[in-house]
Amino acid sequence: MSSLRFEELSINDEIMRAIVDMGFNEPSPIQASAIPVALEGKDIIGQAQTGTGKTASFGIPLLQKIDPELKKLQAIVLCPTRELAIQVADEFRKMAKYLHGIKTLPIYGGQDIVRQIKALKAGAQVVIGTPGRVMDHMRRKTVKFNKIRTLVLDEADEMLNMGFREDIEEILTKIPEERQTLLFSATMPKAILELAREYQQDPEVIKVIKKELTVRKIEQYYYEVESHNKVEAISRLLDKYTPKLSLVFCNTKKQVDDLSEALKDRGYFAEGLHGDLKQMQRDRVMHAFRNGSTQILVATDVAARGIDVDDVEAVFNYDVPQDDEYYVHRIGRTGRAGRTGRAFTLVVGRDIYKLKEIMKYCKTKIEKASLPTNSEVSKLKIKKLLVNANETAINNDMRDIYESIDEWVQDNDIDYRELVASLIKMNMGDTSEQEDINSSTKYYDKNNKKMVRLFINVGRSQNVKPKDILGAIAGESGIPGKAVGSIDMFDKYTFVDVPSKYAKNVLRSMRKTKIKGKNINIETANKK
Ligand code: ADP
Ligand code: MG
Repeated sequence: MSSLRFEELSINDEIMRAIVDMGFNEPSPIQASAIPVALEGKDIIGQAQTGTGKTASFGIPLLQKIDPELKKLQAIVLCPTRELAIQVADEFRKMAKYLHGIKTLPIYGGQDIVRQIKALKAGAQVVIGTPGRVMDHMRRKTVKFNKIRTLVLDEADEMLNMGFREDIEEILTKIPEERQTLLFSATMPKAILELAREYQQDPEVIKVIKKELTVRKIEQYYYEVESHNKVEAISRLLDKYTPKLSLVFCNTKKQVDDLSEALKDRGYFAEGLHGDLKQMQRDRVMHAFRNGSTQILVATDVAARGIDVDDVEAVFNYDVPQDDEYYVHRIGRTGRAGRTGRAFTLVVGRDIYKLKEIMKYCKTKIEKASLPTNSEVSKLKIKKLLVNANETAINNDMRDIYESIDEWVQDNDIDYRELVASLIKMNMGDTSEQEDINSSTKYYDKNNKKMVRLFINVGRSQNVKPKDILGAIAGESGIPGKAVGSIDMFDKYTFVDVPSKYAKNVLRSMRKTKIKGKNINIETANKK
């Protein structure tokens, strides 16, 4: 760790005052290392994790170099997304609070270009923008590069991931060569080093990487699942571990949308976060996550940059990350401040090779685990309900309720245990229709149709015949009788095979059905 203080970094008084206002007491390690080097005018390749204060590392020296008398563009910061451009511009505005005559300007797509052009003409000295929009202005010749002396590539890895390489290179070639080029990134893939070799001069490499790439306090598990079972899988894990706050990472925006919708449909307090949302929506989502009214935040890697929430109890990799280092960044969001965290990764098919590579790279062991079964999850839910009930019992006077219960139990043919059990069942909703994805009850029949084996608690001894079962299933669920597979009858129960795609439908419609006048129970047959 650095022992340097801000006062020892040759920062001018105006900026010092501003960062004190911002509540910065001590420089972060990347700031302590990068600021003096940048102030000397050298090029820098800076690598440090998200949230380590990279913005001020380049922002302070950049602002300090601006000539307030010269009303021309003197510095450009390129950021991958509109949100990050706004965030960086906000930080710049705060740092430049006491610097008179310095104008900073965020420019990004979706904003009125005419206003941007006016602001550029008015003599903004610092532009913070996305490569696309900067290119736009370059082509329109509404931005002049001839006085630029500092160029920053912020979150360079993300910009390359987003396919901005050509734009960046075109911009770089149009900026005077006598300039300082600062490149900051959370990860350092090869492409960045190539870019650095091409466009920087003798850069100083400054890396602040936490010694332990993965923190020991994080329990890490992976689950091999089929892609159509991922939502069910994550739901079970959420139900089993009930993390207060969790972050779920997906590789694409579309996946973020789909998953957050699917989780909401299942009754979870989930929201999605990605770059296509309006700033206002993002603020709303982040606010809800911070105050706990949203418990599950589903996000892309880029959107999650800059999210700084301390008590995330679990991180889910809904998709295995494309980049080894991303895994570290993702799971580093949990297990903070001495708490224990958990990281769960869903693995589909060949993802396992990627995950093995990640384990090797991170020198970490991610344990293979199996998903909790439906019955395990419901047992946990029941236990939780009972614990809550216990607390309610301790904290409330419920004598008047006892009276009603006693009366009811006396007058009706029901005992206390039955009564409690039904109340629990009502409280939990019926989960029996969920397919058990750990079970091996699914198989392919000779026509290569995916079938599911169901269990019904009536059999020969109740004088039930296979045709009764067939009739009930076809009649209640409306699936064609010939779609029903084999029916194996035993004395007290029966196994029926139905096509997998109808299974839920059958389970749901048969729930309240009677066969030969008997109430039945139907569920997926468990392998155990
Ligand atoms: P990065 O770009 O590395 O992800 P940021 O520059 O966005 O990180 O900084 C993360 C947060 O930390 C911001 O809210 C910023 O204001 C704050 N911050 C940065 N430097 C310091 C410091 N020296 N002391 C206190 N807070 C800081
Ligand atoms: Mg940053």
